[in-house]
Amino acid sequence: MSPYQIVDHVYDVVVVGAGGAGLRTTMGAAGQGLKTACITKVFPTRSHTVAAQGGIAAALSNMGPDHWTWHMYDTVKGSDWLGDQDAIEYLCREAPAAVIELEHAGLPFSRTADGLIYQRAFGGMTQNMGEGPPAQRTCAAADRTGHAMLHTLYQQSLKYDADFFIEYFALDLVMEGGECRGVVALSLDDGSIHRFSAQAVVLATGGYGRAYFSATSAHTSTGDGNAMVLRAGLPLQDMEFVQFHPTGIYGVGVLITEGARGEGGYLTNSEGERFMERYAPSAKDLASRDVVSRSMAMEIREGRGVGEHKDHIFLHLDHIDPKILAERLPGITETAKTFSGVDLTRQPIPVVPTVHYNMGGIPTNFHGEVVTLRDGNPDAVVPGLFAVGEAACVSVHGANRLGSNSLIDLVVFGRAAGLRLGEILKGGAPQKPLAKDSAGLALERLDRFRNADGSSPTAQIRLEMQRTMQADCAVFRTERTLAEGQAKIDAIYSRMQDVRVTDRSLIWNSDLVETLELDNLIAQAVVTMHCAANRKESRGAHMHEDYPERDDANWMKHTAAWFDGWGGQGGAVRIDYRPVHQFTLTQEVEYIKPKARVY
Ligand SMILES: Cc1cc2nc3c(=O)[nH]c(=O)nc-3n(C[C@H](O)[C@H](O)[C@H](O)COP(=O)(O)OP(=O)(O)OC[C@H]3O[C@@H](n4cnc5c(N)ncnc54)[C@H](O)[C@@H]3O)c2cc1C
Repeated sequence: MSPYQIVDHVYDVVVVGAGGAGLRTTMGAAGQGLKTACITKVFPTRSHTVAAQGGIAAALSNMGPDHWTWHMYDTVKGSDWLGDQDAIEYLCREAPAAVIELEHAGLPFSRTADGLIYQRAFGGMTQNMGEGPPAQRTCAAADRTGHAMLHTLYQQSLKYDADFFIEYFALDLVMEGGECRGVVALSLDDGSIHRFSAQAVVLATGGYGRAYFSATSAHTSTGDGNAMVLRAGLPLQDMEFVQFHPTGIYGVGVLITEGARGEGGYLTNSEGERFMERYAPSAKDLASRDVVSRSMAMEIREGRGVGEHKDHIFLHLDHIDPKILAERLPGITETAKTFSGVDLTRQPIPVVPTVHYNMGGIPTNFHGEVVTLRDGNPDAVVPGLFAVGEAACVSVHGANRLGSNSLIDLVVFGRAAGLRLGEILKGGAPQKPLAKDSAGLALERLDRFRNADGSSPTAQIRLEMQRTMQADCAVFRTERTLAEGQAKIDAIYSRMQDVRVTDRSLIWNSDLVETLELDNLIAQAVVTMHCAANRKESRGAHMHEDYPERDDANWMKHTAAWFDGWGGQGGAVRIDYRPVHQFTLTQEVEYIKPKARVY
């Protein structure tokens, strides 16, 4: 007899996550008459999407010439040719309609004098297939675009007949014979267990930035969906590609949007030099994120960092008219004051590259269907399982995401997943009852941690994991740091056997729930480290100093990684590959051939 009270539910679709991606999918599924549930561990409008500042990319041409094929070119180049061009074509072609849809749904965009949606310049966004000047493509609601978007989507989603399970923590998928049949969740309110039977489960659980010590993401960004996929014996894709944002506030990690440089901000070193002119002569401070972060790290390493320890860089906005700052960047004016005590109208902001985004995640096609990556037929679909948003790897961002391309990814692929669900499912179709022990995987794991009385406190293991990832799997990587990193992270992982959980209550913020999150994070940390050590080239965010060049002949392929180490000693990571899609979706555009990536 299970000590847990299990409550059963039956839905056509269960979406896990209520950030931009989860809400857009929920609306799409419910809007097509499918009985839909959305499970979320935090209140929907507290999802990390709320923190997005700079904006959402779409070639609307409101501020100058633009075209979706130029957006596609920039995204392919930004991805360092690891992105799948069929999916990138879909993203960029659908982007303008997706933004207009948000406008009509009530998103309060900033406006031009003519009343059009205001668009700013962002890194790596250019005109004319990389040949022209910067494109102003990033649609913004001041510097609170994610906040505006998430509130708009949540308000809209209440119009539909979807059931929200708020502050429910999804534990594990229910898999049967290679098919996803549902999901098991813990109610953080009363500790009851909920087993959802569904024709399809959609994972929209966001990134795992908290595997690192300094990250711009929310404390809840623990990649729970990615870990559920690993536990289901399925692979994750391209986990070695972790984006560092150039401008996290020094010491606290809080983000200063790239929009700050889009509005004319620039970086300087201890000599007061605008050093980006040396590294990226044409794009300068608006080169893509990997390039700017690496340049900053080089300056610091060569002794030209600022501050007492010469370990950070200055971002200047003090030359910009305070009226423009108040109108376009009000949020970061406040953020700079609160977190670094700086009045940015008069002083530079101390910044340092900070973990920001996970390009890797759950492999999907452009309909959001999870694919197996199995040898022979890597594009075969896992029946009943979808993933969208930062948790997914479609892959449109490849080895490096361009700023403002995530918010558009959420709504374009959230919508696509909803459409696909409508196409392949029949509302109310009878479901075979779930097996009696279908909650077994979830409950055994819960029990293991409820009874964990080892000698390593959760917080201690977490800190060691975060420090190891920050030190050995960061902006620059070498054979030595990665080999050391692998040994260290495997040893830290094996300490999960010895974890001590003090507060075992089944409710929000308890040590137990944090341990479940840590267990999710640490598997991804192990996979990320091993995938990074495995890739012997430099591409996008993965800069390997012993292999400084991109190597298309041997490495233009996606990494697929399985984790076999659950509960065991150390982390056994199994690695395979999937070819990059070197084709487009329609005849309208040709495949963009690889070339050197200079800005
Ligand atoms: C500070 C910051 C600024 C950014 N600015 C921009 C920007 O200007 N433009 C841009 O394009 N991108 C930006 N990004 C990136 C972008 O915001 C994120 O990639 C995106 O919002 C992720 O959305 P999501 O819907 O995938 O997940 P999230 O918004 O992270 O939501 C995850 C959801 O999953 C739920 N969840 C997770 N685990 C569980 C579980 N176990 N059980 C139940 N529910 C669970 C959570 O409750 C939450 O609802 C920014 C990111 C950060 C951190």
